[in-house]
Amino acid sequence: MGVWVRVVAGVVALVLLLGGCRKPVAEEPSGGRAGGGGEAARPDWGKWGLDALRPAPVPPEDKPLKLGGKGPVKVFSTVPTKDRVVFVTIDDGQEKDPRFVEMLRDLRVPVSMFLTDGNVRDDYGYFKPLQALGNHVQNHTLTHPVMPHLGPEGQRREICGAQKSLTREYGTAPKLFRPPFGMWGSATQEAARECGIQGIVLWTASMQIHDMQYDDPNKKLHNGDVLLAHFRGPKQLRGESMTKMFAEMLKRIRRQGFAVARLEDYISFR
Ligand SMILES: [Zn+2]
Repeated sequence: MGVWVRVVAGVVALVLLLGGCRKPVAEEPSGGRAGGGGEAARPDWGKWGLDALRPAPVPPEDKPLKLGGKGPVKVFSTVPTKDRVVFVTIDDGQEKDPRFVEMLRDLRVPVSMFLTDGNVRDDYGYFKPLQALGNHVQNHTLTHPVMPHLGPEGQRREICGAQKSLTREYGTAPKLFRPPFGMWGSATQEAARECGIQGIVLWTASMQIHDMQYDDPNKKLHNGDVLLAHFRGPKQLRGESMTKMFAEMLKRIRRQGFAVARLEDYISFR
């Protein structure tokens, strides 16, 4: 996929989003705290030239985002929580940098992986150590098309096809779907539901090679924001490594005073 195609499609997606196809998520109070949990290993920030992020709070027992109810599959780009946390999602899967696995092992930053089957089928195994750290594999289609350009059957094939192979490879069925370029419509919601998806996840800020792009014109992160990054390496990042990109993102999150929490820990699924 050419960079320009992505950029142009991204702009189109943004225009569509601003045009009002984004569904607001109702504000709900976050509930009580569960005890225990958390990773046993202590993060090694210094090894990666980073200062420690705030530790994530214990996830709420009463999940602030409830999915899987009646009606169209919910579309969201932020989770209604008062916790000072953001959620990191990583898409596609072209780049399979072993150093990134090492980095997540060292830092214990939770991520959600939205994998495109066509990008990962040459090495499904790469993502398994990341999954073993507690990170969930989610659905990002078979071939990364612009979903609204496909008919209902085509959209179903893209989502259900990826659902099938990701479930086979990773032993658990994705519950969340990210539409390529953030572009979706009611047929996408319908197809997602038929394939067993309970939520469609967009984002409020995305990490580029060196910089973060924010929906907020004040360039601020907010509680419960979903951030987008990609499994991209030197080929896609003009020579930059994925670990450098990720480190730059963490610096921005830290500077704004946020912890990174696990998206799935803030959602109740059916
Ligand atoms: Zn993508």
